Amino acid sequence: MLCLQQKKLAYANSWRGTRMKIRTKRILILLCFIVTLGACTAEENKTQNDNENGTIYSADIFAMDTYMTLSAYGEKAETAVSAAVEEVNRLDTLLSVSSEKGDIYYINQNGGGQVSEETAELIIKAKKAFTETDGAFDCTIAPVMEAWGFRSGNFCIPEAEELSELLQKVDSSKILIEGTEVLLPDGVSIDLGGIAKGYTSHQIMEIYRENGITSGIVSLGGNVETLGTKPDGSLWRIALQDPENTEEYFAVLEVADRAIITSGGYQRNFIQDGEVYHHIIDPVTGFPAQNGLISVTIVSKDGTLADVLSTSLFVMGTEKAVNFWRQHKDEFDAVMMTEDRRVLVTEGIMGVFTPLTNDSVEVLS
Ligand code: AMP
Ligand code: MG
Repeated sequence: MLCLQQKKLAYANSWRGTRMKIRTKRILILLCFIVTLGACTAEENKTQNDNENGTIYSADIFAMDTYMTLSAYGEKAETAVSAAVEEVNRLDTLLSVSSEKGDIYYINQNGGGQVSEETAELIIKAKKAFTETDGAFDCTIAPVMEAWGFRSGNFCIPEAEELSELLQKVDSSKILIEGTEVLLPDGVSIDLGGIAKGYTSHQIMEIYRENGITSGIVSLGGNVETLGTKPDGSLWRIALQDPENTEEYFAVLEVADRAIITSGGYQRNFIQDGEVYHHIIDPVTGFPAQNGLISVTIVSKDGTLADVLSTSLFVMGTEKAVNFWRQHKDEFDAVMMTEDRRVLVTEGIMGVFTPLTNDSVEVLS
């Protein structure tokens, strides 16, 4: 097994290290500009600012291994954003593989056990996704993630033999769940990293609604969900990061009441001998998926579904992803970039899609 020193790789993991902090601040500034949130700053704290749309209240936090910005307009914005921050922290603990007080940690350590109704529901959704995506989405990928070092930060390229052994534990159909009782036989363990952020942004929208907010937006490490429109009735403008030059954007989508969730190998990775190894694993090979797509953005009313599908379509690769969309046209839209930089956009969002580069754009119908 070829293991790398965490220190050496700190710069390579795009979600860690100073370089990333600087870059994240730049992204936050750009996002603030692009969604025209007014005089928004990139401070990692709470801010309140007045602009032409009224008063916006924002919180910048680090949770779920990523930088997040939660913003809302309206009288109760401060209360709503504070409650939303608490919710993010609660879900981070509940669903993370490494949080000792959480459900997932507990069942992974004990081969199963009693979980909350909420966790049970998410596991059921993940299992359903496994079936519906023909195994591309597999939340039992946990041991493989660990072998690559994505949990500890001690990155390794596992030996083929180790991977084939670990892959025997990767099979979501082995998860047994009855009510809130989960059984994980044969060393199976769960990683909800491919669904948790989408569920979290969905929950934040619920909290915003409960607080009477009609205009709000969250960005959880680039995964965006919007509530309503901006206060002046105009659509939110969401910029899509260029997977090959992450300080730039390749397109803008204009939306209201939508989750816009992106999966890309550029989001978390390490580099060894010039090769990039990223965090989205193909459950067939145990290796980072390399099936022709370098970025997949899903647009849907349902944040949880969008998160599941961004990971799934990335794993499926170009042809299967396009076929999958054709079979589920009514449920979501997508923007995908292929490794030869073709931009594939589903017909339902062509009207709200603006390219920012000269890459060729193909409309999927
Ligand atoms: P995302 O950024 O939403 O695409 O999710 C990537 C995360 O999902 C990884 O960091 C892992 O925690 C987990 N993951 C990796 N590969 C898979 C897969 N094939 N199916 C489900 N979850 C995965
Ligand atoms: Mg996902």
